[in-house]
Amino acid sequence: MREQVGAERWRGSGGAGASSSSSPSPSASASEPLRTLSIQEIVRQAQRERIPDKYRAYSFAEYVEMVLEDPRIVRNAYQRLYDMILSHGVETYKRQGKEYVHYKFFDDPFGDGADAVFGIDEALKDLVDIFEAAAKGLGPERRIILLHGPVATAKSTIGRLLRRGLEEYSKTPEGRLYTFEWDVSAFDDEPADTVPCPIHEEPLRLLPLPVRKELLKRLNRIFKERFNGPYELDVEGDLCPKCRFYFNRYMARYNDDLEKVLQHVTVRRLILSEQDRKGIATFEPKDKKNQDEEELTGGMNWRLVQVYGSDSDPRAFNYDGELCVANRGLFDGEELLKLQEEFLYDFLHATQEHVIKPKKNPRIYIDTVILGRTNNPEYRRVKANERMEAFNDRTRKVDIPYVLRVSDEQKIYEKFFQGPRIGGKHIAPHTLEMAALWAVLTRLEEPGGDLTRLQKAKLYNGEAIIGRSVDVQKLKEEAKNEGFFGVSPRYVIDMISKALVNDKEGCINPYIVLRMLEDNLKDHSTIDESRIDEYKELIEVVREELSQVCQEEVRRVISHDPKELHEIGQKYFDHVLAYLNDEKVLDKYTGEEREPDEEFMRSIEKQIGITEAQKDDFRQEIANWISERARKGESFNPEDNDRLRRALERKLWEDKKRNINFSAMVSDLSTDPEHKKRKAQWIERLKREFGYCDVCAENVIDHAGAEVAREELRRRERA
Ligand SMILES: [Zn+2]
Ligand SMILES: [Zn+2]
Repeated sequence: MREQVGAERWRGSGGAGASSSSSPSPSASASEPLRTLSIQEIVRQAQRERIPDKYRAYSFAEYVEMVLEDPRIVRNAYQRLYDMILSHGVETYKRQGKEYVHYKFFDDPFGDGADAVFGIDEALKDLVDIFEAAAKGLGPERRIILLHGPVATAKSTIGRLLRRGLEEYSKTPEGRLYTFEWDVSAFDDEPADTVPCPIHEEPLRLLPLPVRKELLKRLNRIFKERFNGPYELDVEGDLCPKCRFYFNRYMARYNDDLEKVLQHVTVRRLILSEQDRKGIATFEPKDKKNQDEEELTGGMNWRLVQVYGSDSDPRAFNYDGELCVANRGLFDGEELLKLQEEFLYDFLHATQEHVIKPKKNPRIYIDTVILGRTNNPEYRRVKANERMEAFNDRTRKVDIPYVLRVSDEQKIYEKFFQGPRIGGKHIAPHTLEMAALWAVLTRLEEPGGDLTRLQKAKLYNGEAIIGRSVDVQKLKEEAKNEGFFGVSPRYVIDMISKALVNDKEGCINPYIVLRMLEDNLKDHSTIDESRIDEYKELIEVVREELSQVCQEEVRRVISHDPKELHEIGQKYFDHVLAYLNDEKVLDKYTGEEREPDEEFMRSIEKQIGITEAQKDDFRQEIANWISERARKGESFNPEDNDRLRRALERKLWEDKKRNINFSAMVSDLSTDPEHKKRKAQWIERLKREFGYCDVCAENVIDHAGAEVAREELRRRERA
């Protein structure tokens, strides 16, 4: 009976009474002994990451020397952000006849697996294009950049990556930037000796505009000549009210002698940091009643009002509103459109004029990228509100859709379910892939014609449909809303987690996960109730696909033999070459020349549905593939060509299956020692070559193997 139980378990109908001799085998932990790590080694590591001038004090004159060496130091927030993204590299690639740009910054740039974005290169290019235009001063630098899309797309990840990216970039020599502090020890009404600029301004703002413009002209010349500068550098805006106060105070003391004033300024390196509230701010509106303007703009510091004796003294202001904090870097607002209308006007000034206007305090010039995120319902509400027209005019929307390519969706899950998170458990092959397939199917529009949704998903995934040529770009263009509805990756991740938590076997398989996905649709807040029936039908579609895939895999395992595969592949190739060149094939044993064996070639091609009309194209394709490899000095290996490999394997399977005891495979009492021995070999192969563990290898043989066997028996009966 054990075999039955195993098969049921694989189907995901619960493990009631399931007993198995094959114990879960969490992969043996690293055999390497834990090395001892000395404090010296730890310190040396930290030493390498040290920023050499982090605490150094520069005079203003030294700073000017420095920017003349490297004018990139004075880039504005948009320019720095854009260059930061480019600094990680750019690639282009072609897919289905279309060229795509890929910014490597979005693939886990810090290598710690924390964040990566998959499968939305087009949307990311839209976003980076906006940053580029903003860097060049073409308009978007005066807009709120609004990431818009359904729940649980990569919107938040993109924000997080940009924040972290800026932090890291500011630590590098290429990305560095500076700010300054005042020496105020000369004044006896000051509680401290030094006062840093509260919004970490660019030191060149200390120069009056005409002088500054002259310097910038020189900087731009150097920037173009030495750095190929693709945009114009500028340092806009006046000093913040607090710095302006000290500036004026010293100017009065020194009778407008700027040089003497600047001697009281110390320039310091600025390391952007979300944690330290330097140049990176995140913001999420509270509920409507509790929204407070000061959160964005800052407010009075009543303790300092006491010290300075006036509530309009710029020194008594708290420059801790998030827009002040974000100066020099990035403001990243979650659900931005949930803000009350009045407050959205603060953003209007911040974007349009780069200015914030707190109560009882003069205007503050800020230099920050304003990024917001919003879901569709909120966006539509604001869009429909006429009074918000000015605001709507000043946003640049970037659509961040769901992923529509199964392999990319799968990567999202793979990224999530790795390392300690899965607790040493095994995830059977095809589990994440089938979950991803289902998620993508829920996001597709019906293609119409005689194309099914499953076929569409495969086409989007770069797979070919046998015997058809479909214009994938046209399919995509016909389905404008695709990517903006359907099931979120979050639901799928939740369900896989649930399967992992409930698991007692040490391994979860695709049937268990599909069951989870099916059974919890009603209880999940993000699932559109009106579509539950449709989603369930799609689960059936995926189950059928999974069954095919598993059967195929079992067939492969049973028939797989690299040596045979190579031999039959070589023979096929010899005949194809002779056929294409109108030559004869030399028989190695008899030395005779013979006509290419048409029947033999067709028996292979038919395995993957190549019709008589398509055979010439296929043969040419294979010949091209092989000569391309030969040109690169690689030898012929049919396993490297997916279609050819599949055709050859199926042919081998055809030839071999006569010798397989199918009744033993389906029987519960498979006591046949030969069968047992073979089964053990298959399990080994499944583990070695296909990523199975003991639990799922045995299950897939029992379950899919039985299906294969039943099908073969039926076929024999028919014959
Ligand atoms: Zn300042
Ligand atoms: Zn497993």
